[in-house]
Amino acid sequence: MKLATFRQGQQQRIGAVVAGGIVDLSRVAPDMLSLIEAGPDGLERAREQLRASGDIIPLDAVQLLAPIPLPRRNIMCLGHNYAEHAKESDEARGQEYVPSQPPTVFTKATHTANGPYDDIPFDASVSEQIDWEAELGVVIGRGGKHIPVEQALDYVFGYLALNDISARDLQFHQPQNSQFFRGKSLDGACPMGPWIVTADEIPNPQVLQVTCRVNSVTKQDGNTSQMIYTIPVILSVLSRGMTLDAGDIIATGTPQGVGFARKPPEFLKPGDVVEVEIESIGQLRNRVSR
Ligand code: MG
Repeated sequence: MKLATFRQGQQQRIGAVVAGGIVDLSRVAPDMLSLIEAGPDGLERAREQLRASGDIIPLDAVQLLAPIPLPRRNIMCLGHNYAEHAKESDEARGQEYVPSQPPTVFTKATHTANGPYDDIPFDASVSEQIDWEAELGVVIGRGGKHIPVEQALDYVFGYLALNDISARDLQFHQPQNSQFFRGKSLDGACPMGPWIVTADEIPNPQVLQVTCRVNSVTKQDGNTSQMIYTIPVILSVLSRGMTLDAGDIIATGTPQGVGFARKPPEFLKPGDVVEVEIESIGQLRNRVSR
């Protein structure tokens, strides 16, 4: 299923995206976090509702929001999880590439959550170096601690596309000490969605093309097969001594082709349109606000 959070008029609801529109699932759960927490029973009730309902709301009659509009915890993010991107980042900063072991992890504040087609806020007095990072996002379905690699995919609820928008001037303000949290946490700096594709539809998440286009020009074109740390390893490492909760969102890192590492560097400007597409998941399309 493709599960979305949408607004129609004043009401915010969840639904399943089907050919021709969206089927309201608000009788199953009031919001996405409640549906995720209802576990396999909740998904089964959602499937029943989908089969029983003949009512399809046209997609152009609703506004799709971030599938989880306000996450309970920060979005957890892998840094340098594609070797070619790690190399381009280190080179752009005049540093020698050293693979990160264990993986680099940082977080984005909850108010970064942004809709799949909404504007990315731009305020030149805060940052003039807004950059893109196309990523596959993982949504946790079953919470756990010390999750074994071999069983890790059983803890995944589903997948979404995500843009880890980064303010490089804030992130690299102190050259020897990356300020990941501030650079990654501006309001609206995490467009995501356009829906969650449930895990049963993605038997192997390590074969998906990850693409970013800016004003229709391809900037990133990688594949999740290039990840240094695969999703099962990421879940295992993160949950070592730290509980993962249902509804947690994990951004799995970005392939090469980000703006600040290009020669010359490129950043997003007001009016630019940035698209992130993940194969078998969907596409985000966000304009940088004027
Ligand atoms: Mg990233």
